[in-house]
Amino acid sequence: MTEIHAVLKNQRAFFNSGQTKEISFRIKQLGLLKHAVVQNENKILKALYQDLGKSPYEAYLTEVGIVREEIGHIAGKVRAWARPKRVRTPFYHLPAVSHIYPEPYGLALIISPWNYPFQLAVAPLAAAIAAGNCAIMKPSEFSPYTSQAIADLVESIFDPAYITVVTGGVEVSTALLAENFNYIFFTGSPGVGKIVMAAAAAHLTPVTLELGGKSPCIVEPDANLGVAARRIVSGKFINTGQTCIAPDYLLVHQSIKEPLVDRMIQCIEQFYGVPPMNSPNYPKIVNRHHFDRLMSLTKGARIMYGGESDLARLTISPTLLDVSDMPLPVMREEIFGPILPVLEYGELREAINVVSSHPNPLALYLFSENRQTVDRVLKQISFGGGCINDTLIHLATPYMPFGGVGGSGMGGYHGKFGFDTFSHHKSVIQKSTRVDFPFRYPAFYNYMKLLKTILR
Ligand code: NAD
Repeated sequence: MTEIHAVLKNQRAFFNSGQTKEISFRIKQLGLLKHAVVQNENKILKALYQDLGKSPYEAYLTEVGIVREEIGHIAGKVRAWARPKRVRTPFYHLPAVSHIYPEPYGLALIISPWNYPFQLAVAPLAAAIAAGNCAIMKPSEFSPYTSQAIADLVESIFDPAYITVVTGGVEVSTALLAENFNYIFFTGSPGVGKIVMAAAAAHLTPVTLELGGKSPCIVEPDANLGVAARRIVSGKFINTGQTCIAPDYLLVHQSIKEPLVDRMIQCIEQFYGVPPMNSPNYPKIVNRHHFDRLMSLTKGARIMYGGESDLARLTISPTLLDVSDMPLPVMREEIFGPILPVLEYGELREAINVVSSHPNPLALYLFSENRQTVDRVLKQISFGGGCINDTLIHLATPYMPFGGVGGSGMGGYHGKFGFDTFSHHKSVIQKSTRVDFPFRYPAFYNYMKLLKTILR
């Protein structure tokens, strides 16, 4: 892979030229990026339709629009974020001043998945640019139209020695991971996350891992059922369930299971029509492999709604499964498709135990009007992020970090958190030479009493 080697060599030279450290340079590049996203909007929406059958509305809402917002927010704030921050100095170091200098890592590698192929490649790129890095992007081979649209867009505005896109599959990813990057930002499955982290360890490269897993949705008896049904259905079936933070399974109190499921079925038909999988607003499954994998998950389960599929169009109907009394494969792996297993519970403790039997979820959703219930769930379950009385929306804000914990990943981004992710925070104390207390030097080590009054 001599080509990859050459790209890195050129990027290293570009980074060493110091251009990316200028804040005005970064703001200009973010402006170019946002302008190019606006100019290429139709091309991007078309590619998202070709890869995943996303309607223009959904594609704008979850990919183009969210990225435009993110770039705009970052561009407006980066000057303030990049400024060295003066912080307090402990009295025993005085006279001195202390500053934290955010500085770019250098060369960043951004590997992204196919499900939100535009957003999950370009939002991290904006953060990498803001922090002053050069970057190589490796979008997914399973969303080839969007990957090509990103490559064309990047090529049209950036010198490849600054930002470039390398397309291809596992072999390309593997070759990239063998190189010595200064930061790796990976979004994808937990299994590949382990491969990425092992490769990064060889060079001691810091990583952010944005992974997946089984994200639960708990519905308590005091929940507003109408609102819960609408928000669960919209969060689950947007992008046909191929969303890392989609509710993966539903834990519903036994007293409200039936009315909730009835309302959810009404919502599915209201949102998508009958049959729902014929709706122009209902995307397709990305490929045959995932279609077959998802269909196999419905085997042996009691289907409460849906279950139909059309291989020729790679569509699977929104499907609700009753899995209350049997351990099924659908409860063992991340579903990542339009299948929602429903489990009932009697006591909240049982629901918490089910969640705790899986690795830390990327997201958790709780529908309840009771403050104590909310506190209990927040205290007892560790998860990446989530919502009370809604689904997905915690992702769409620049004011909170988005990321996982434990099995669902490490690190976070969005807004300032993305800038911080791609920056090293260099701590520097600048000390006066006018005063030089003697007791810090070895010849004065008999000042123990004084030392103990200072460092208590
Ligand atoms: P994936 O892990 O298979 O692939 C992600 C990227 O890694 C792709 O670019 C792929 O080419 C590359 N890759 C695949 N195998 C590799 C290997 N052996 N070595 C090196 N690189 C390799 O994930 P996917 O199927 O594209 O996406 C689905 C997964 O991503 C789900 O688990 C989902 O939850 C997760 N996800 C997480 C987030 C998040 O923000 N946390 C967002 C979207 C998707």
